[in-house]
Amino acid sequence: MLKKYALTAGAGVVLLVTLMTLRTFGLGAPPSGEVKPLAQVASAYDRTGIADRVSAAIQIRTISLARTAPTNAPAFAAFADLLEASYPAAHAKMHRERVNRHSLLFRWQGSDQTLPPIGFLAHMDVVPVEPGTEDEWAHHPFGGVIADGRVYGRGALDNKGQLIAIMEAVERLAVTGFKPARDVYLFFGHDEEIGGLRGANEIAKLLKSRGVNLSFTLDEGSGVVDGIIPGARGPIALIATAEKGYVNLNMTARADGGHSSTPGRETAVSRAGRAVVTLIDNPHPAELDENVIAFLHGIAPAMPFPMRFALANLWITGPAVSSMLVKSPVTAASLRTTTAPTIINGGVKANILPQTASAVVNYRVHPRDTVEGVKSRAEKLINDPFVTVDLTTGAPASPQSSVTSDGYRAIVTTTADIYGGIASAPSLTLQGTDTKHFVSIANDNYRFTPFIYQKEDLGRIHGTDEFVEIDTLLRAASWYEAFIRRTAGPSPRDD
Ligand SMILES: [Zn+2]
Repeated sequence: MLKKYALTAGAGVVLLVTLMTLRTFGLGAPPSGEVKPLAQVASAYDRTGIADRVSAAIQIRTISLARTAPTNAPAFAAFADLLEASYPAAHAKMHRERVNRHSLLFRWQGSDQTLPPIGFLAHMDVVPVEPGTEDEWAHHPFGGVIADGRVYGRGALDNKGQLIAIMEAVERLAVTGFKPARDVYLFFGHDEEIGGLRGANEIAKLLKSRGVNLSFTLDEGSGVVDGIIPGARGPIALIATAEKGYVNLNMTARADGGHSSTPGRETAVSRAGRAVVTLIDNPHPAELDENVIAFLHGIAPAMPFPMRFALANLWITGPAVSSMLVKSPVTAASLRTTTAPTIINGGVKANILPQTASAVVNYRVHPRDTVEGVKSRAEKLINDPFVTVDLTTGAPASPQSSVTSDGYRAIVTTTADIYGGIASAPSLTLQGTDTKHFVSIANDNYRFTPFIYQKEDLGRIHGTDEFVEIDTLLRAASWYEAFIRRTAGPSPRDD
């Protein structure tokens, strides 16, 4: 009897392992992980020319300081002039409008107006260089120095390199006589780094007033990452299908004042402190929802076999994988709404009981959660009649875009054409982009820059020594050209 039971159990284990192995192979063969030689994909582009144009773009100081600061109008005018002088064929084929004076909207009219248009976003503005760090740069941050096969300066990666790559592609398409079937739009905002309210938001409002509805938009927000996902072999294309929202909660605690020699049990400071600690001790739950699972299944082929086996069988391994992912702040942020107390204030003198104290907690809202939900959850957790919670800023997360649309598939296919056999996966953008203004006028919104990013590049974005490899620019230009031919060419597949 015991033997029979053992045999049945043994057969069950064999069956389970077989099933789990089959699921592992079902995710697809491991990609080669080898990037195609540049000469095979970008020989049509002029290496010196593209570097010079990115350099010239960096030298124009289109800096966004703060929402309240005036716009540097001459800089944005110079930027538009640079594009016009550098890309004459593109300007001849496309209709250009200035929106709210500084932002640019280009429309390349397609031959078939029944097809929904597509739109490409990039932004002209850059963040400032943090005062005191200028000397840490290898080259002047606004010098546009070309050295060691790179172009150095603020905006090289975020986002002038991408903007120039788009223009290079469009120029070449125009020169070679390409005629789009559907409308191709370019949207270049001038205040993305301070929220995009005056730029991208105004462009989107204008399009809406004209009844334009796009098949999809493509913006910054993710890219081809190499050595960034722990354990992955070779580069992986991460295609962001959503971006997180943003909430600031202001907590105000009240208590009786008086002399600190005879305090009650609580002061306003202790109440505010307790509220903050309660919130960080009770983080939003991390979940492997269907979008996270799609991401994990997408990256799995690039992982070593044991990890691939675990990722293919999340129905069993889910809790273990989840607890591993929350250990890293970056992967944790893609699984949950994050909680970050960033400001605390209260009290004026060591011997006076403060009557009020306040704290600000910044949340990045996961697409699963809502702005109101974040606030009411905080109130319930704090559960203190002497602490009021006010919502001071609230922007919802974006909706999830499709991973089965023609647009998404075209991103995957074009990336394989230009980069070679690399894995690809849908992902989530953790910061905000100008795309948030376009969600109501497009069926889908993707955030993917066809640049290859190493781990060190991430620190250079908004940081010190920002640069872009000229090879990366060339590959990106040919990516955009191939992508536009595929999605807007003479016989596009209808959506
Ligand atoms: Zn950016």
